[in-house]
Amino acid sequence: MDLMVTTLAREDGLEAALAVLVQRDLVCRMIRPVPALARVALPALVMGREERAVLEECLGDDYPCAGWVEYRPTRREMPSGEAQEFSEDIFGTARIVTLQPCVADDTKIRVIADLSNDIGPVIPYLNAVVDNASYSGNGPSLSFMDGERMIVLRPRSISIAKADEIVDAWLCLERYRQTINDTWSRRAGIEPSFEARSKPNVIELIRRLPGTNCGMCGEMTCMAFAVKVCSGKAAIVECKPAFESTDSASRRALLEACAGMGIPVGSSFREV
Ligand code: SF4
Repeated sequence: MDLMVTTLAREDGLEAALAVLVQRDLVCRMIRPVPALARVALPALVMGREERAVLEECLGDDYPCAGWVEYRPTRREMPSGEAQEFSEDIFGTARIVTLQPCVADDTKIRVIADLSNDIGPVIPYLNAVVDNASYSGNGPSLSFMDGERMIVLRPRSISIAKADEIVDAWLCLERYRQTINDTWSRRAGIEPSFEARSKPNVIELIRRLPGTNCGMCGEMTCMAFAVKVCSGKAAIVECKPAFESTDSASRRALLEACAGMGIPVGSSFREV
């Protein structure tokens, strides 16, 4: 049976979902985050497509779920113990509000987590300590690669593209929580950096383009177009199949990927 996984952004949403499932005698499995992940994760629900349809119909817009992706068992180990405490906690908590298949690789997932606190003040300090990060003063935001994952930190959110599955996303969020709080606690000894370092990665961009080599951007191939974009000679929005598509989630994911690689999206593109 095809199994799907979702998570709800609020605890009361989770309670409502469980009440619906119990009332209708529907089967679902819960993935509970361990106490060490309590600041960044709420339980995830795994169920079949039929159960998902009933749940969505019953909950309606009152308790929107973060989204659905195909369920894949995690290969990651969850840490033991309690969540690490910090005397100065600038991070607060994170809750996943968007959960989608990754546009660049449908075996991976993309998540966006909303943050309870404003981490904007720590971003210039992170820019000074995180290797190969790309800082933008607009926001501000900080983008970097974490293995295969592409991360964008903003004052009130964290986006992760190409996470393995939801437990992997939780573990990443907890790791960023610790780095952010630790960096903030050490800020007296760190010179904040407002320097923008952009090193667009052609291969990463190619993987996120439609890959049809249709030529509508004026280049013979997506690869040629990616090279031009990364060297600043073409604007990403010239890929018409991506930016004139009705699939706003795909456009948003491509824009996030560009932000992650320090690629400007061009002023002509507004609606995402
Ligand atoms: S328009 Fe987009 S899909 Fe078509 S060749 Fe150019 S980059 Fe590739």
